[in-house]
Amino acid sequence: MLSVAATRVPLDGTARLREAVRVLTADLRAAAELLRTATDVTLLGHVNPDADALGSALALALALRKLGATVRVSFGPPAEVPESLRGLDTAGLVVPASEVPAAPELLVALDTGSAARLGWLADRVGTSGHVLVVDHHASNTGFGTHNVVDETAEATAVLVLALVDELGVPLDQDIARCLYAGLMTDTSSFRRATAATHRTAARLVEAGAEPTVIARELMDGHPFAWLPMLARVLGRAELEPAAAGGHGLVHTAVTLDDMAGVRLEEVESVVDILRTTSEAEVALVIKEMAPGEWSGSLRAKSAVDVRVVAVGMGGGGHRLAAGFTTTGTAADVVARVREMLRECPVLAPHTPLTRYRS
Ligand code: 5GP
Ligand code: MN
Repeated sequence: MLSVAATRVPLDGTARLREAVRVLTADLRAAAELLRTATDVTLLGHVNPDADALGSALALALALRKLGATVRVSFGPPAEVPESLRGLDTAGLVVPASEVPAAPELLVALDTGSAARLGWLADRVGTSGHVLVVDHHASNTGFGTHNVVDETAEATAVLVLALVDELGVPLDQDIARCLYAGLMTDTSSFRRATAATHRTAARLVEAGAEPTVIARELMDGHPFAWLPMLARVLGRAELEPAAAGGHGLVHTAVTLDDMAGVRLEEVESVVDILRTTSEAEVALVIKEMAPGEWSGSLRAKSAVDVRVVAVGMGGGGHRLAAGFTTTGTAADVVARVREMLRECPVLAPHTPLTRYRS
């Protein structure tokens, strides 16, 4: 494990950071060494992959293919690439989960905090020759034989870029597009960016990533049916100013009825609107994936660590964006989250570290 939190030696702030950077550099080198000699590589993103998971997997796969390796990218569920992410797989590297070898030579898990988050493909962690984990979740369990894990990285894509550089593979437009997609979405369109994030983005744009095209495909294009769905779901939103220790909670539910006729992309967009509510530090959207089965998305602005709530609900994620899956009635699920928020630690505003220079 490479995270600052994982450094066991008691050190002061600067020494801790220096030690974490030293460990990260060593782990990046070891990972690059493993990848450089690999001839067959299977790269996996987490279940219901987002742009950071799939973009990171595809970018690294493209780089390894340039080095002569046979590569494949997969995930599951779902069985197919979400429509908004299809523009990332220009080389056709994604294969269905059923076509992933039973015992891959080298498995690379990207943006995935635990083996269980590999869903249908979780068993491959036990059957692969080597497992490289590349991730930025604080909760990462370090389930690889090699781990490049840094919770201070804004996106897994940033770690993949460091690996691609370490491998000496020059960026091209296809790699840059995939990495830019992950960086853009995981920083909420650069709202949570540092100067280093923008330098990384500039490098990717110079290499051919097209911000307008990528933003339109990933988040700015919705079918008309999105509007009536939003109207219903947002119309039912409730504000609880006293919740989350007085910081406020806003929540709503997307039922199976609401989801009829729209893609998962439209459903996932709801939390991005809900979280802009000024009176609420925390936003919660629960989505009914099957009757009585809910996938929850939690967002915080700065003061509440929603990862703690998500972990309490059986899920995980980051301090400002986390999720979980659970069962029950909508009212039950909201009540449980409300209860967990009562216990939840309140944080000082997040000061990101800048560790990667482009
Ligand atoms: P989202 O709300 O966008 O689905 O997820 C936000 C964050 O929480 C992501 O980092 C995602 O990996 C994590 N997350 C979402 N759902 C789950 C879940 O069911 N289990 C775990 N461990 N993490 C989740
Ligand atoms: Mn990510």
